[in-house]
Amino acid sequence: MTQPDLDTLLAQVRSCCECMPHLPLGPRPILQMSKTATLLVASQAPGTRAHNSGKPFDDASGEQLRHWMGIADDIFYDPRRVAILPMGLCYPGRAASGGDAPPRAECAKLWRWPLLRELSSLRLTLLVGTFAQEHALGPGRMTDRVRQFDRYLPSHFPLPHPSWRSRGWMVKNPWFEREVLPALRGCVREALGAACGGA
Ligand code: SF4
Repeated sequence: MTQPDLDTLLAQVRSCCECMPHLPLGPRPILQMSKTATLLVASQAPGTRAHNSGKPFDDASGEQLRHWMGIADDIFYDPRRVAILPMGLCYPGRAASGGDAPPRAECAKLWRWPLLRELSSLRLTLLVGTFAQEHALGPGRMTDRVRQFDRYLPSHFPLPHPSWRSRGWMVKNPWFEREVLPALRGCVREALGAACGGA
């Protein structure tokens, strides 16, 4: 099948209701991208605040992620520079065990590859959380991957999900702030600067 142009593809994605019966708040795909983006945030699924505002990472997790990356809101939310593509594009509801449910598996099967094909300027993909890491790299332990982040460079950088749970994880793994975050900020600056003449 021929790939539609990006505007057509995004219109198709934004009108998708493939897994509507499973979405407690209904379909509302949340993503950000353009062909010129050089940095991709490959994330998990929107939360309720992002669902309500229509803006990805519009919550405490987003503040944490931007702090980790060392970039301001105006850069993070500039689709010409940064693409944000969750594994599941709509809020998936709550899991029985607490926390948000996993991203809907239908979503990546339908939309991920057509959307990724449009990101032809990418220099770096941040794999935020286990779902994005397993999709790109196969099965593996998140903590091991983050600690060995330089194995995946220059194309990928694995990160934990920046939810409130990551605070306890960071206390247990102090090397993350000491060694990984400075490297992450350098890689982000480099990926953005290549397209934008310096971040
Ligand atoms: S989660 Fe993905 S597949 Fe399901 S309705 Fe939203 S856009 Fe469509």
